[in-house]
Amino acid sequence: MLSCGLVGLPNAGKSTLFNALTRAGAAVAAYPFTTIDPNVGIAPVPDPRLERIAAIVKPERVVPATVQFVDVAGLVRGSSKGEGLGNQFLGHLRDTHAVVMVIRCFVDPDIAHIYGEVDPQRDIEILSLELMLADMATLERRIERTQTAAKSGEKRLLAELDLLRRLQAYLADGQPARTFAGEGDTSDFVGSLNLLSAKPALYVANVSEEELGAADAALAGRCAASPPVAAIQCIAAAEGAEVIAVSAKLESELNELSDDDAAAYLRELGVEEPGLARLVRASYRLLDLITFFTTTGGKEVRAWPVRRGTKAPQAAGEVHSDMERGFIRAEAVNYDDLMAAGSFAEARDRGLVRLEGREYAVQDGDIIHFRFGV
Ligand code: GDP
Repeated sequence: MLSCGLVGLPNAGKSTLFNALTRAGAAVAAYPFTTIDPNVGIAPVPDPRLERIAAIVKPERVVPATVQFVDVAGLVRGSSKGEGLGNQFLGHLRDTHAVVMVIRCFVDPDIAHIYGEVDPQRDIEILSLELMLADMATLERRIERTQTAAKSGEKRLLAELDLLRRLQAYLADGQPARTFAGEGDTSDFVGSLNLLSAKPALYVANVSEEELGAADAALAGRCAASPPVAAIQCIAAAEGAEVIAVSAKLESELNELSDDDAAAYLRELGVEEPGLARLVRASYRLLDLITFFTTTGGKEVRAWPVRRGTKAPQAAGEVHSDMERGFIRAEAVNYDDLMAAGSFAEARDRGLVRLEGREYAVQDGDIIHFRFGV
């Protein structure tokens, strides 16, 4: 399963956020949480389309798509050189597919910041630097190995060595691998290095409850941001990364309330929806996931995450391996077409239900019935 690693300096609010995400996930009954590592949590992806499909299908159960989050422990200044928990964070982060950086913006004299004042720019620099230093170590080892092997004079190895050195210089210059553009199509090779700073990233500004409404408005471009949020915005804009404002503390409090009370509380704060919902959706986009739906004989309406570009047989494989092996065809109707028609029967009459073959790339919002033989 694709996952996002949550990183942050101590007291940034990362664990509070992780716990809020995980508790939201624990409410999705279809998953065996007890078998999952304590630092791995699953969060449901809010998707209003599910309820509207369910209103047509009237199933017994509705199951949302989920995103997996990994709580990456122990990143401090000097981690990559063995400070704090040392480079333990590496192991956790290597296996994730994207990075969510939790940055402290809230001021609270009772909760110390290990580096003094609240300063998002410094914190982001520390986090980014540790990831890049870890990558530098990876590159050094790889360069040594390639250098030895390239003594044979093999062209491919010499080209790789050249690319590795250019990447090393790029990182040494303080640039993350994700913005490195080698000449020609080198992305597969760079991807195979599994560098931390190559993973897509987004920023979470952890603001106080009182500031959340204003931070949301600022991030939506409706007003100027407070200095800490503006600092994150500025760095993110340069990288083309997204920024989400949350109040980790508020999110954990919302979990204790009924849906109605939580909605009333958010209205009072001038916030449209919980930051968690926005964070989960942004993480979903970061992982380049899209959603297709199944209706399993009218019993269950379920949302499935797949990487954009996934072909129909592989999408079927997400549901069941037999469906991939015995794939015959997919009957697909897109959500918008179904809503316009009002029912599956009407969609069929209007010719909106398509028959798709093995080469069909599943589209976001497709409601699919897989035909397969065993
Ligand atoms: P971590 O070290 O990043 O995992 O930080 P924690 O999630 O353990 O949070 C550290 C402390 O900050 C805890 O006491 C939290 O209750 C508190 N905290 C987290 N988020 C907020 C927030 O938005 N506002 C305030 N005032 N405190 C927060």
